[in-house]
Amino acid sequence: MSTRLSRSKTADRTAPLELDTEVLVLGGGPAGAWAAVSAAELGRRVVLVDKGYFGTSGATAPSNTGTWCLPPGEARRTAVERRAARTFGLSDQRQTLRVLDTAHETLRQLGAAGYPFPHDERGELYIANLRGPDYMRFMRRRALTLGVTVLDHHPALELIGDSDGIGGAAGWDRQNGRAWQIRAGAVVIGTGGCAFGERMLGATGLTGDGYLMAAEAGASLSGMEFSNQYGVAPAHSSLNKGLIYRWASFFDADGHGIDTGADRHLAVAQALLNGPVFASLDKAEPQIQDWLRRGQPNCFLPFDRIGLDPFTQRFEVTLRSEGTVRGVGGIRLADENGWTGVPGLFAAGDAASREDLTGAISGGGGPNASWAIASGRWAGRAAARFTEGAGRRQGRRLRPLGTIGLRPTANAIEATDGAALSADLARGVREEMLPIDRAFFRAAPTLERSLHRLDGLWRDARAGLAAEGHAALRAREAGALLATARWALSAALVRTESRGMHRRTDHPALDPALTLRLGVSGLDQVMVAPEIAGEADDRRVAAS
Ligand SMILES: Cc1cc2nc3c(=O)[nH]c(=O)nc-3n(C[C@H](O)[C@H](O)[C@H](O)COP(=O)(O)OP(=O)(O)OC[C@H]3O[C@@H](n4cnc5c(N)ncnc54)[C@H](O)[C@@H]3O)c2cc1C
Repeated sequence: MSTRLSRSKTADRTAPLELDTEVLVLGGGPAGAWAAVSAAELGRRVVLVDKGYFGTSGATAPSNTGTWCLPPGEARRTAVERRAARTFGLSDQRQTLRVLDTAHETLRQLGAAGYPFPHDERGELYIANLRGPDYMRFMRRRALTLGVTVLDHHPALELIGDSDGIGGAAGWDRQNGRAWQIRAGAVVIGTGGCAFGERMLGATGLTGDGYLMAAEAGASLSGMEFSNQYGVAPAHSSLNKGLIYRWASFFDADGHGIDTGADRHLAVAQALLNGPVFASLDKAEPQIQDWLRRGQPNCFLPFDRIGLDPFTQRFEVTLRSEGTVRGVGGIRLADENGWTGVPGLFAAGDAASREDLTGAISGGGGPNASWAIASGRWAGRAAARFTEGAGRRQGRRLRPLGTIGLRPTANAIEATDGAALSADLARGVREEMLPIDRAFFRAAPTLERSLHRLDGLWRDARAGLAAEGHAALRAREAGALLATARWALSAALVRTESRGMHRRTDHPALDPALTLRLGVSGLDQVMVAPEIAGEADDRRVAAS
């Protein structure tokens, strides 16, 4: 299969870039990478666009990543049952087994293809850990070898489509300062999660863009109330890798020890409400210290830079919101292979809801990495199959589907002050979505106040946020942050109980009647709908 794309106007680097392909993948984290590779392995012409540089951007690229990886057999079934018991009744064991199956098989293939996994003491390949930078560099090379056309620094701004479904996407080429449009038989969204503007490892570009694009195309989201996972980080740093804190003691400002019990995050969050919190990795024996330094070298850079020994000295810590990145919510999948319910549109990785695997708890520490692999594989293959049949893309009159932040008119505020408005909106989202007192611990009055403010900002955005060129990227990011925050708060308001990471101080107990998923949809009017036995019903609740 030829991988050449029909390209027009390539000579002039300022004229819009127009391409035509079979499968278009948005995002080059592990989910997008596996989707692109899987579609290319089936002989499809594939283009992958990334907001940053495919191989270095996203949440996996900057550090080591544990995978959830068990060989087939009894031990795997037992592990799945044990995990399901912790997911508050919202996971799906059959789909979890499928994830483990596909991830294990894929990781073994990765080893066979030359990825340098270490060997364990029995001489077996140790495939449960990936070194982020090596892994993603390997995936980039693999995609290029298979003929995938990679466009770095080409953020997608909106989908394009017609009455038959999705027909591609449009965006901005940051380095050449020009627009691009790629027509495609199918699109896979692999744009990662949304960290609500928090500064944390690998998340600067994770603003929920894929959620917004999918919703504009008619898709719904699920699990959005489980969007408030937090990670411990040194107060002076954005480095929120959690492993090192297994060996930590925590203290208040007076030096009194904090009992973290079974839930370190909860204990630290409660203590932070009363004042600063300090930690020391004083439970790590010299052997563990050495292992941590070799296995997680970047975790120690913030300490080395200020000349502090974290194993003997105390340092101030904070909790950084990880939003949906290590949370759960995302685009609701209509089938087990990544279809969003919109013809031609598929989703994978953190862009999709991970409830099947994680229920109401975080999938960090292994499950999410395996999900990114498995869901990327399924979505890439499903997108490839969708493009089967000649002529599917011929003669379509595709229109842009983006509804906010784009195409300024003469009277739009953007004409004079778009950057300022984008920054205001993003600040509003951070102020409502990051603070522990209202986002980690939730209650109806604060949820309602936050939602009221963000609904107002959404109306401001509708009235005046419309930009072109590079400013359109910031405007779309602000719109995506705002939309994602409103979906998360709307679902959190409707879930009148505490379950997993969703902690309601006004409803501290779990309500067995709410052992169901909440679908969310809509842009101006957000709708929350309980989903029973895998199907959305029509009992919709207007949440804003
Ligand atoms: C600090 C930290 C540690 C973690 N450790 C673990 C772990 O040990 N084990 C585990 O299972 N999980 C871990 N996770 C979670 C894991 O990293 C994610 O689940 C995983 O990276 C998801 O892969 P992804 O491809 O969906 O998204 P990402 O890896 O985030 O990639 C998304 C990509 O989409 C691109 N993008 C975004 N918007 C656009 C756009 N508009 N147009 C084009 N491209 C776009 C981004 O540039 C990025 O390259 C960790 C997360 C964090 C933050």
